Amino acid sequence: MSDEMSNWFTIEKIDETTFAISEYGHWEEVHSYLLIGDTKALLIDTGLGIGNIKEEAEKLTALPIKVVTTHAHWDHIGGHGLFHDIAVHKEDAHWLIKGLPIPEQVIKSNVIKDLNTGLTPKEFNIHNYQVFKGNPSEILKDGDTFDLGKRSIRVIHTPGHSPGHICLWEEERGYLFTGDLIYKGTLYAFYPSTNPLQFKQSVDKISSLEVVKILPAHHALDIKPDFIQKVKAGFETIEKLGKLRQGSGIFAFEEFMIQI
Ligand SMILES: [Zn+2]
Ligand SMILES: [Zn+2]
Repeated sequence: MSDEMSNWFTIEKIDETTFAISEYGHWEEVHSYLLIGDTKALLIDTGLGIGNIKEEAEKLTALPIKVVTTHAHWDHIGGHGLFHDIAVHKEDAHWLIKGLPIPEQVIKSNVIKDLNTGLTPKEFNIHNYQVFKGNPSEILKDGDTFDLGKRSIRVIHTPGHSPGHICLWEEERGYLFTGDLIYKGTLYAFYPSTNPLQFKQSVDKISSLEVVKILPAHHALDIKPDFIQKVKAGFETIEKLGKLRQGSGIFAFEEFMIQI
């Protein structure tokens, strides 16, 4: 089998029971995360759907795997179809059930845009690529928790990038899985289903947490906890300019940009 294996996924050990599963062969540099408890494992997002993330996760744990969706955009639900136990916030659930309101061809062209085909698995063929559509097994709301067995993860509803966007907070370790709310790159709140004001309020909401480690859904993994305060200040600057509304454009800050 080994010569058939692809290098599509990069596994980074955050600690003994927490792993980043990254897809650096695509310009979006998507990260999914596997959190292993005593009785269960939680997979935060399933990535682009280019490689088989279930096989990858099963190399790291033999426990039953539950999938939780930070939000239902195509680049984070690519492998959802490989799993049965899927949780999503109620405000994004309709996108999983009915499909995203984006033409499939648009998504497919984004999947193969700047793709490093030297890394893609042999089985990957864009013509067979299907955007996930299916029924979640659990509908989430703010404050819900996942009990993984001596490990507890809390849902924080952080709308703005999408209506049902969530961050996942592990208070005991100080880990905040930020999805598309916080990362080093361009933060998006410009398309119709986004809401710049809610995005700002969500950043404010998480800014009081005592975060030890930010674990984002895109780009660099080495983000210092004070980065949240920088994004918070960025949104405050935009608000003071009276520009915190859609169509205002791109605002560049030192380590990130905000597009609204
Ligand atoms: Zn997104
Ligand atoms: Zn994303």
